[in-house]
Amino acid sequence: TPVIVAIDGPSGTGKSSTSKAVAAQLGLSYLDTGAQYRAITWWMVSNGIDIDDPAAIGAAAGKPEIVSGTDPQGPTITVDGVDVAGPIRTQEVTSKVSAVSAVSDVRARITELQRTIAASAENGIVVEGRDIGTTVLPDADLKIFLTASPEARAARRSGELKGSDVHSTREALIKRDAADSSRKTSPLAKAGDAVEVDTTELTLAQVIECVVTLVEE
Ligand code: C5P
Repeated sequence: TPVIVAIDGPSGTGKSSTSKAVAAQLGLSYLDTGAQYRAITWWMVSNGIDIDDPAAIGAAAGKPEIVSGTDPQGPTITVDGVDVAGPIRTQEVTSKVSAVSAVSDVRARITELQRTIAASAENGIVVEGRDIGTTVLPDADLKIFLTASPEARAARRSGELKGSDVHSTREALIKRDAADSSRKTSPLAKAGDAVEVDTTELTLAQVIECVVTLVEE
C-alpha cells in the first residue's frame, strides 16, 4: 500500500531538502505545500487583491488554478499555466504569505488540492508543510516534526537567499513563524503522534538518514 509521510515544522529546519531527498530515495512523490500557499499569494499580489482584506482574499481564493508537479527530482508549480517557481520565492511574496494563508477559504481550497494529490500518488508521497500531520493528512503513516534553533534556521535561510544578512533573515523568520503558529485555522503545530527531530546539530545527510530509517521501520 502507498506510504504517506507528513513532514511539518517551521522554516529553515531543512524540511524541503529532507523531504525531497527522502522521497527520491524511497521512490515516492513529493509535495511542497508551502509552494502552493506562495503560489496563491503570488496570484493575489499580481491581481491587485488587498492583502490586508481577508474578505477580498477569501472571495478570490477559488479563482487561480494551481498545479503542482510531484517528482522529487524536479518539482514544479504553475498558476493558470504559468511557471511561478521563481516569482514565489521573492521577499514580497514571503512577507505576505502568512496573511494570505491565514484566510480559512484559502486553507480549505489548498487543503482539498493537497488531499487529492496525496490520494492519487501511486507509490505514496512525502508531504511537507505546517499542518499536514494535524489537519491535512491526520492518518499519515509517519509524521515528523522538524525543529532547529532560531540561529541555525536563520543561518540556513540567509545562505539560500541572495543579498540578505542573518540578522534581518532571523527577524523575518521569527515573525512569520509567530504568525503561522497563532492563526485560528490549522496553525503550525506538532501532531500528538509526530516524531520530533531537532536538526540544530545534525547535517542534512543525518536528518535524511534518520527519516528514511523511521519510514522503513
Ligand atoms: O514552507 P514555506 O516557507 O515555503 O511556506 C510558506 C508559508 O506558507 C508559511 O510561512 C505559511 O504561512 C504557509 N504555509 C501554511 N501551511 C502549510 C505550508 C505553508 O500555512 N502547510
